[in-house]
Amino acid sequence: MTAAERKELKTFMTGLKKRNPYETEFHQAVHEVAASVMPWYLQNEEYRKAQILERVTEPDRIITFRVTWETDSGEIRANRAFRVQFNHSLGPYKGGLRFHPSVTQSVLKFLGFEQIFKNSLTGLPMGGAKGGSNFNPKGKSDAEVMRFCQSMMTELHRHIGEDIDVPAGDIGVGSREVSYLFGQYMRLENRWSGVLTGKGQSFGGSAVRTEATGWGCVYFCDHMLHYHDYEIAGKRTAISGSGNVALYGAQKLIEKGAKVVTLSDSKGCLHIKDGLKEEQWEEIRELKEGSRGRLSEYKSTGVEYHDGKNPWGVECELAMPCATQNELDGEDAKRLADNGVIAVIEGANMPTTQEAIDLFRERGVLHAPGKASNAGGVAVSGLEQSQNAMRVSWDRDEVDNRLQKIMQDIHKRCVEEGGGGDHIDYIDGSNIAGFKKVASAMLAYGAV
Ligand code: GLU
Repeated sequence: MTAAERKELKTFMTGLKKRNPYETEFHQAVHEVAASVMPWYLQNEEYRKAQILERVTEPDRIITFRVTWETDSGEIRANRAFRVQFNHSLGPYKGGLRFHPSVTQSVLKFLGFEQIFKNSLTGLPMGGAKGGSNFNPKGKSDAEVMRFCQSMMTELHRHIGEDIDVPAGDIGVGSREVSYLFGQYMRLENRWSGVLTGKGQSFGGSAVRTEATGWGCVYFCDHMLHYHDYEIAGKRTAISGSGNVALYGAQKLIEKGAKVVTLSDSKGCLHIKDGLKEEQWEEIRELKEGSRGRLSEYKSTGVEYHDGKNPWGVECELAMPCATQNELDGEDAKRLADNGVIAVIEGANMPTTQEAIDLFRERGVLHAPGKASNAGGVAVSGLEQSQNAMRVSWDRDEVDNRLQKIMQDIHKRCVEEGGGGDHIDYIDGSNIAGFKKVASAMLAYGAV
């Protein structure tokens, strides 16, 4: 970056921070995109004149509301919920709902902002949004989760629609929650529509949606490694998390002959020195998805549990952070690089801090940002919307083939905009490719 570009970036970020005080996650996500696109932005006067960067960082609207619900023992609880409808230049708002105590407006603004460019990269007609609540589904009964979802949808239903805004899952929102939300939406609206994605397959859900984010990450990783003359087979891969993304990422890695050496949850980490076996993967899936258990409960030969540890101290060639934002910091990055990591593939959204990003860049580690590598989830959500609109249901192969093609195309776009040479900067590539498309649509619409 030239001195002039750096100065513009600083001025822009100072203004953004002033307008959005205390929203540190949002600042971080905007800074990453703005740093990548600034050189292009400054060279294209018409975009600058139209204030595209200022406009695209201001959400179209944020809906905030209280969700009141009753516990099983009859106590009243109130949570805060949001829907950030960030930008619908490319299509109806699209993005997940997150239920987690860490949810704040800043977190949902960062997620909604990233979603704009992720959705743009998929090539499907989807705008960017995100929503959720500080409600913690952990330890709640099914009936409590149902009452919370019904109460939340009682407000949310007036702001969404298949051509307006189509929510889906994210952390803490899986098929159980999507089903309760969908049931309440139909009760209120008296009509069936593809207003949510990630639905059960018997009521309009898409094949492969559950697997899509994790599988998509591995498809992207495969292209990234091939482009740089590496093979995925035999690579030791440290994965964090044990939710949907981590589990199905692990499944596809095992299928491709890589060795999954870790999985983790908020309490600790499983270390599987010789790589996770298929039967063990199935047992862990049952533990997590079936009984909503903890990894500390899992016992098997060759598997050690390390209480309070994250996976980044383990020797590996690939690292796949699939848990949550800022879970991999500068020190973790240094340990990974010292241990010879070749590539980092983000399954979660913004899991690496700015210090970690800088370190990986310095050390020449390939780094696929979530908005490119985890776009498979929302891409199959987009395919679910298409199937719902056409009243058809594609089989697993059809959806998987489309997913593979989408991930290949995203990789290609990152290469084109990420330097195109021997070593691709995937962060710049994804930001520039995602941004350009949104920016040109916004320019075409005039001052709206
Ligand atoms: N929450 C997922 C994401 O971060 C999926 C969103 C969706 O399917 O709409 O992309």
